[in-house]
Amino acid sequence: MSNQQLQQEIDSRRTFAIISHPDAGKTTITEKVLLFGALIQKAGTVKGKKSGQFATSDWMEMEKERGISVTTSVMQFPYNHCLVNLLDTPGHEDFSEDTYRTLTAVDSCLMVIDAAKGVEERTIKLMEVTRLRDTPILTFMNKMDRDIRDPIDLLDEVESVLNIACAPITWPIGCGKEFKGVYHLLRDEVILYKSGMGHTIQDVRIIAGINNPELDATIGSLAETLRDELELVQGASHPFDQELFLKGELTPVFFGTALGNFGVDHMLDGLTEWAPTPQPRETNSRVVQPHEPGFSGFVFKIQANMDPKHRDRVAFLRICSGKYEKGMKMRHVRLGKEVQVSHALTFVAGDREHVEEAWPGDIIGLHNHGTIKIGDTFTVGEDMQFTGIPNFAPELFRRIRLRDPLKQKQLLKGLVQLSEEGAVQVFRPIDSNDLIVGAVGILQFDVVVHRLKSEYNVDALYESINVSTARWVYSDDNKAMAEFKKKASQNLALDGGDNLTYIAPTMVNLNLAIERYPNIQFSKTREH
Ligand code: GDP
Repeated sequence: MSNQQLQQEIDSRRTFAIISHPDAGKTTITEKVLLFGALIQKAGTVKGKKSGQFATSDWMEMEKERGISVTTSVMQFPYNHCLVNLLDTPGHEDFSEDTYRTLTAVDSCLMVIDAAKGVEERTIKLMEVTRLRDTPILTFMNKMDRDIRDPIDLLDEVESVLNIACAPITWPIGCGKEFKGVYHLLRDEVILYKSGMGHTIQDVRIIAGINNPELDATIGSLAETLRDELELVQGASHPFDQELFLKGELTPVFFGTALGNFGVDHMLDGLTEWAPTPQPRETNSRVVQPHEPGFSGFVFKIQANMDPKHRDRVAFLRICSGKYEKGMKMRHVRLGKEVQVSHALTFVAGDREHVEEAWPGDIIGLHNHGTIKIGDTFTVGEDMQFTGIPNFAPELFRRIRLRDPLKQKQLLKGLVQLSEEGAVQVFRPIDSNDLIVGAVGILQFDVVVHRLKSEYNVDALYESINVSTARWVYSDDNKAMAEFKKKASQNLALDGGDNLTYIAPTMVNLNLAIERYPNIQFSKTREH
């Protein structure tokens, strides 16, 4: 491999994920993106509930019944001069810790907003996570074929609620039945929309120049309205600024309809032109540059039973530097062991394929027989550990109990292993024999019971418990810690990795504890 080849591969990579509130249109956009990426001939095959057939990412009967997908699959496709990796994040009620962690493995995000609804709660939460790394954000205002809110209001809301400046790249002409298309502010052209063409890549009609009389002839008085509106918009919004975008301080905004397959390509043009190439990553000892020749990467997700025929676990590894080559030896840093990786997987539109080579920004899947944990680093020899792959404090808690009390040991083993995989978190209160399971998304609970049964042969059930939030606790002050442990013991628990945690019945209780113990740090995230 020459340095030049490595650099070329890096320059062509864009690795991103979509963040949105359920129903904003993430799945539909994914379908169109893949359509443009020439991966699927006809849009409509990503999610079972739409096409009637199940996508390969649906891996459990339970999911199929619900018609949703728990998995975070990875898709790679060419677009313009780039190879784009799209990391899918579950967007429904099955929201999980995987969703959060996936955002640590990308270099940019697309935020999809339902233009009739504006900024919604899940989007706010996901944006918080992207802020941990100041990830650059592109924005797509979806569903322009419906009656939406005033576009200027929408930008205002994004700016004030999400605290990011908006730079409209396209501007909509009408909406709902009157949606005529968009004006591209940077190209100075109007791109006209035709309804009913959502399943194909449209032959669009383009009118060059905002003052072109052809525009008036085509859309009538809307042309004049557009000119007036643009003056207002340009006064009230920000011009696109690449540097601010890369810092995560400004988002380019596109308008369109995913269902009508209009505007998604404008967004993809922006993504390939502006979004960052694979970025340097921090480790506990130094910053790793993508163009370093030595291979390195970290595991951000572990998934069990992706394919019922395989019944295996796959660790998803984001490559940070160098090149992956089939059959190469890697160092599993935590275990201090060399391992040979003969067949890593790549994920082209959900199909599992064996990769010959892969580059920074790419995701490969490693077969995992229980030796790989979330956050593990792989290198070609160097002992370092990538940082910034956190656990997030769970928001939902249940007590887990066995139907057969003789299997307590197996239950604990299963729960600890599942927590190492990141499927769920487990807490053992210091003062009792309870086992508490904590999750970010409700579906994680069902997955855990299902997997305990099928993989550990334990029959478990849940009971409600009076816990509403948890924080990992630390202190440099040993005396304060000892005092805290004594006084607050009824609220303390150990997690799956034996880290001390404060579990609180209410937010009020938590806030009181934070006030009462100023020398103790209460943290919402914990690094692996
Ligand atoms: P997700 O939950 O974010 O993945 O959203 P989906 O892609 O499943 O979309 C939710 C619903 O909105 C579906 O019924 C879609 O058909 C619909 N939808 C998505 N994009 C558009 C759009 O541009 N216009 C309209 N009218 N409906 C849309």
